Amino acid sequence: MIDQAATDFEAVHGARPTGVWAAPGRVNLIGEHTDYNDGFVLPIALPHATKVAARRREDGRVRVYSAQGDGTITDLALDGLAPGVVTSWAAYPAGVFWALADAGHAIGGADLYVDSDVPTGAGLSSSAALECATAAALNDLYGLGLTAPEIALVAQRAENAFVGVPCGVMDQMASACCTEGAALFLDTRTMEQRHVPLDLEAAGLRLLVIDTRVKHDLGDGAYAALRAGCERAADLLGLEALRDLPAADLDAALERLPEELAPLVRHVVTENQRVVETIEHLDAGRTAALGPVLTAGHASLRDDFRVSCPETDLAVEAAVAAGALGARMTGGGFGGSVIALVETADVEAVAEAVRSAFATAGFAAPVAFTAVPSAGARRLA
Ligand code: ADP
Ligand code: MG
Repeated sequence: MIDQAATDFEAVHGARPTGVWAAPGRVNLIGEHTDYNDGFVLPIALPHATKVAARRREDGRVRVYSAQGDGTITDLALDGLAPGVVTSWAAYPAGVFWALADAGHAIGGADLYVDSDVPTGAGLSSSAALECATAAALNDLYGLGLTAPEIALVAQRAENAFVGVPCGVMDQMASACCTEGAALFLDTRTMEQRHVPLDLEAAGLRLLVIDTRVKHDLGDGAYAALRAGCERAADLLGLEALRDLPAADLDAALERLPEELAPLVRHVVTENQRVVETIEHLDAGRTAALGPVLTAGHASLRDDFRVSCPETDLAVEAAVAAGALGARMTGGGFGGSVIALVETADVEAVAEAVRSAFATAGFAAPVAFTAVPSAGARRLA
């Protein structure tokens, strides 16, 4: 796999790469739409990763090629990069060059060859994987000495300011900072992190990821509107962020809010609580107790935050009916993927129940796989 990336790099760019780097996709166990409210998240990195083979260039050119692209090299001048200039997929890696240079880091050009097995647009964060693998490569090629959280922040800036997607920081932090065998508990206000051991196999469990293969277009605009709604609610309540509303004050706060904002606030406050509850279960070795917390999180996203869709709702419902301990949509919503916590012996039956429910409903066939907590961004060779 590593040799393949190096060989493919050579075929495209005409020389051996200096190295190969990788950064994973992620699923978030719990803590959805909390990262732009200064709240808590708990993602794991997937075994699926984006590999970047790379080599410095001394002429200030940025030349990027993706095995998932259109078969051509995108060739850009580093000093010509600015938000809005690149509109193809290449904006993700180019944005990382731009964000590093804009932050004052002494970088030059590079040749990149990208190859990934992270499904794109499935809510599994192929975008963060691409950004973080690119940032990890440039960090080493130019000896920048960035830490994993610093790589994540550069990657997020690339996506926010260069690509133009107003995402929170969870995806990039997960891709850059996760470790094998653990979930990443992140406080998105302080950026404080804790790696919480998660050994599903030892608990007789598996995490089933179900990619519904749908992405509804309203997602992009809706995300910005939800984000703005949360900010307006925090303003009305006189808070810096919804993170600052104690659960004990929730009911009183809801009465002071307009009808359209109250459910958003209820989701964010209860979701932060669910992250804390999940951590308590994990610390106490009660892995199976995560199930009902996941399902409650889905109900909140469906009924209060309203970012689920018929496909994710059906996947959750079918998984739980077939014996999953719990299930929820993961990622921003409007399609994407669902996670289900399942006893090892039930994995196939639950996956089959979801496939069968989708077929009956006339939905496209979903793709299901099991995932273990895997490593964050790293150099492979
Ligand atoms: P997600 O991050 O959930 O997969 P996004 O819409 O945020 O979905 O990002 C997907 C986009 O990222 C793709 O449409 C493409 O532009 C870019 N991308 C991700 N991985 C690759 C890759 N391996 N090669 C080319 N582009 C990629
Ligand atoms: Mg993304």
